[in-house]
Amino acid sequence: MLRQWLSVLRPHGRIALISDGASAWYSGMLPGLLAGRYRPEQCRVPLSPLCASAGVELIQGEIVGIDPNSNSLRFADGRVCSATWLSLNVGSKPQPLPGDFRELELVPVKPFEGLVCAWRTWQKLPMPLAILGGGAAGVELALALAPQVPELTLISSGEILAGHPPGLRARAIRCLASANVKLIEGSTVDTVYGDALLCGSQIVWRGKRLILATGATPLPWLKEGTLAQDGRGFVAITPTFQSVSHQHILAVGDCASLPDCPRNGVYAVRQGPILARNLAAALEGRQLSKFVPQPHALALLADGKGGALMSWAAISAEGRFFGWWKDRLDQSFIHKLTIR
Ligand SMILES: Cc1cc2nc3c(=O)[nH]c(=O)nc-3n(C[C@H](O)[C@H](O)[C@H](O)COP(=O)(O)OP(=O)(O)OC[C@H]3O[C@@H](n4cnc5c(N)ncnc54)[C@H](O)[C@@H]3O)c2cc1C
Repeated sequence: MLRQWLSVLRPHGRIALISDGASAWYSGMLPGLLAGRYRPEQCRVPLSPLCASAGVELIQGEIVGIDPNSNSLRFADGRVCSATWLSLNVGSKPQPLPGDFRELELVPVKPFEGLVCAWRTWQKLPMPLAILGGGAAGVELALALAPQVPELTLISSGEILAGHPPGLRARAIRCLASANVKLIEGSTVDTVYGDALLCGSQIVWRGKRLILATGATPLPWLKEGTLAQDGRGFVAITPTFQSVSHQHILAVGDCASLPDCPRNGVYAVRQGPILARNLAAALEGRQLSKFVPQPHALALLADGKGGALMSWAAISAEGRFFGWWKDRLDQSFIHKLTIR
């Protein structure tokens, strides 16, 4: 969205970007970073120069509460910030796992800063590792990390890559096998006891280190107020990105819920230009545009060796060409947002 305002004059008025970090990590390059193919600075966008160039104030801080009736946000350090229009783009976090974590180190995939930090420490003394969650993120992380640990287990409650074409799933299973990843499908881990992951009373895995890639759940503070939610607690929005209950609050990306719009980075990025247009229209009192999700999106999953698995609609393929293509797309995304 900010990129749009680099080329088109931003609307009048005071506009601020609130972020809990000084830069925004790009998830598409995270598996490559952990595989040792990128440096951290290649995978994140520094926000300060981007905001300065777009004429937007940067406010750093962690939001912990929202009052939708006064359009105000509460920060962890006690500050409160209110605005005529709010746009929520705070992403999601993996589904938490209940239990006792005294004997097991558990690291969620998000926030990325925490995962990158934990991985740096773990790398100094490699040990068997489990990844919980067999979606695209879990599969890519398993392929990136398997060559660097003595044993890697990928655990999925259902089949891995559910919702993706069967061809992509078959390719991923072959790739995981050739990387010596132990795959456990159909096991819903519901608790942790000591060093064991349990499905009911059955032990699924024992070890010391676990990465949680259990799919998107909403940030807890979004569920507290009177902002309309879907059944899972994501912000319910209309096709103009406005909250169905509070029209001065917009939401996009993982934190929002729009029928027929999957929750992944491709759709979040596609929403950016419409969000920029709609915020300008909102500030200038014009009509907001509707976002129509594209029916299919290209999926490119890094195979951990420089290649990638690809799917689009029902088609799938793999190889080094797709790895090269993914690198080009990822690096050009970061390049367009990095202001020197
Ligand atoms: C390992 C991994 C790999 C992935 N790879 C792909 C891929 O290749 N392709 C794809 O399409 N999707 C991918 N995804 C999914 C993708 O990351 C998300 O769908 C996408 O990032 C959602 O964008 P977003 O802008 O909604 O949220 P995010 O990208 O998560 O951004 C949210 C921002 O809000 C900030 N924030 C969060 N909470 C607060 C708070 N309380 N206060 C202040 N700031 C806050 C965060 O720091 C962050 O900058 C991947 C996910 C993971 C975990």
